[in-house]
This record gives sequence, C-alpha cells and structure tokens, in this order.
Amino acid sequence: MTTSDLVGSHIETLKPYVPGKPIEELERELGVTDPIKLASNENPLGPSPKAMRAMQKMLKNVHYYPDGAAHEMIEAVSAFHNVRPEEVINGNGSDEILTVAVRTFCEYGRDSAVISEHSFAAYGIRCQSHNLEIRWVSTDEGLGYDLGAMAEAIDETTKILFIANPNNPTGTYLAADDLRHFLRSIPEHVVVVVDEAYHQYVEAEDYDTALSMRDEHERLIVTRTLSKCYGLAGVRAGYAISSPAMIDRMNRVREPFNSNSLAQVALPAALSDREFVERSVAINRQGRTTLEAGLEKLAPLGVDWIRSQTNFLLVQMPVRGRTVYDELLKRGVIVRPMDGYGLPKWLRISLAEEQKMKRCIAELGAVLQELDVEVV
Ligand SMILES: *Cc1c(COP(=O)(O)O)cnc(C)c1O
Repeated sequence: MTTSDLVGSHIETLKPYVPGKPIEELERELGVTDPIKLASNENPLGPSPKAMRAMQKMLKNVHYYPDGAAHEMIEAVSAFHNVRPEEVINGNGSDEILTVAVRTFCEYGRDSAVISEHSFAAYGIRCQSHNLEIRWVSTDEGLGYDLGAMAEAIDETTKILFIANPNNPTGTYLAADDLRHFLRSIPEHVVVVVDEAYHQYVEAEDYDTALSMRDEHERLIVTRTLSKCYGLAGVRAGYAISSPAMIDRMNRVREPFNSNSLAQVALPAALSDREFVERSVAINRQGRTTLEAGLEKLAPLGVDWIRSQTNFLLVQMPVRGRTVYDELLKRGVIVRPMDGYGLPKWLRISLAEEQKMKRCIAELGAVLQELDVEVV
C-alpha cells in the first residue's frame, strides 16, 4: 500500500497554493542584492503603526492562550461596521474563513461549488480538498465575472459560490446594481461568499460593498482582511459578517484559538488607524499612475493591462509570462506569474512606491528588449 492509496483522488490531484516568492529566497537562490517584491499585494508602507504598538504591548502575554471568543476583535468589527457582535466571525486571515465556510455548509464529497475561472486560487483549493464538485465558469471577454453564467451553473447540489469584488488576480469589479440583482436571484440553499479583500482601494463610482446588500440574500457571507490595506499579512487577521444563524454554525466549526493574541490586539488598533488607510490608498493610487504611464510606453512592444480597482495590475506580455518572470527575478524584481491561474501570457504586478514602480518598468523594458520582442 502506498500513501496515495490512503487519500482520495481529489487530494492526490490537488495542486497546493503557490505563494509569491519571498525576498530572502531570491537572495539565497540567485544571490541578488536589493530585490523588490511586487508579488503578493502586500502593503509597501509596512504595518499600521498603531497595530505595531498594540502588538508590542501584547508580547509579554503570549504565554497565555488567546481569548477563544476573540472578544476584542469581534467588538471592534461590530463597532466599525455597525453590526451586532453575533453577526461577526474572526479568522486567521480571511482565507481561514473560506475554509470554515466550506466545512460548515458543504457536505463532503456530495455538494457542488460554483467558482469563476481567473479568480482567487484559494476558492478552488478549499472546495477540492473538501471533495466538492467544482463548476468552473468562464469569465467575460474583459476577464470580469460572468454573473449570468454563474447563476446558470447553480443547481440543487450547489451549496457555495465565491465572488471576489474586486477580483484577484484580474483587478476587475462588479457594479453594485449587477451584484445586487445577482444576489437577489440566487436560491436560498446557496451560500454566497463575497470576498472584499481589496475594498479600500476601489475608486469606481458604481461599486458598493456587499454589506449594503445583506437583505438581498439570506446566505450571504462578506469577508474582509487586514492583510492588504492595513499591512498585517504576516499576522493573519480577517473577519466575516453574515446573519447570526450563519455565524453561529461557522463558530461551531472554527478552531477555538484561530486568532492569535497578536492578531487580536492588532485588528482593533488597525481598524482605528484611518490615517494609515488613507496613506495606503494614496500611495497605491500614485503607484498605479506611475506603473500605467510606464506600461503605456511599453505598449508598442505588445504590453497591455486591465484597469484595476485594487493594489495590483494584471499585465499582458507579448511572450510567455513565465519567461519574463524568470528574467525579472535575475534582475531582482519579483512579480507573480499567472500560468497557475490559466493566464500564461500575463503577470500580476503589485503596486508600490514610485521608485519601485519605476525600477520595475525599467527592468521590464530591458527584459523585453533582451528577449528581442519585435516592435509592432
Ligand atoms: C489577499 C487576498 C485575501 C486575503 O487573505 P488573508 O488570508 O486574509 O491574508 C483574500 N481574498 C483575496 C481575493 C485576496 O486576494
């Protein structure tokens, strides 16, 4: 008997999540000095200073177990969004809440899930590891969600459906009216997760948070993370808002100490740090302007990109994205190849300060020239 005989084929064929390459790994492998990482949509400003101070104070208490009820976190989220504490669940990052939702509501090996292609990789991985049948739905031509096709993919077996708004890795978004109409049309046996990891960066006038659409669908779960705009990716802090009945069921499944002591003090501090969020959004907007201006100059080489409401741009290369990715690595610029997302010609580039954006453009231009990409 081999180990593969012990696991179902859904585990044997499961491809693990591939994170962005850490800076230290690149330094180790290629001996590159002074690399920049534009691969994981992390905050270029670092962590919220208020959150850092709160965590420093907590350090001397980490020999205690964290509060299993995550009281301070739940209260902070409740006050921040003006919802009842019973409508909030805390997560070890918002990723964990996706796992908890799948494990709570989906029957292992029986139910199906509806997921759009070119969407956040965690959705597919969580559903496959729970042995669900996944209905993959194609995007529209602009790589945005095709809500009509997603609704059509639902049947009696469908228990969960995921929407990232705005979406990673495309940067596209759904207008409030379209999402509202969609939610209204979804049968009540389907849990709809609307993942708002990039909410703070959105500038589109016709966008709105799904928190304003809670009356449209009884089984709506809205997730938020502290990993992006609050600069706390390494701490793992996220939360979700849903009905008390839904939250109650998920709380039965969630691990009691899923939010560590540092996350529990970092989250309330970060949520209160509005000035930091404003700076993060401002530097992001500036980074986008700089990167787009640079990409415009590379357009004659066959470079194109999608308009983004997030802290990254999805950029199309004239050649295989991975080829460009490898060459950029040698030059100390870490971006994210997209072949794993079914987008082999694309790279995802996180937005950051002006100098980093300029360096990225300079190296990208040099790589494309080196690869002898013909000007068209
Ligand atoms: C980055 C990201 C998250 C955040 O996950 P955490 O577990 O909270 O770090 C969630 N959803 C999407 C779509 C993301 O891109």
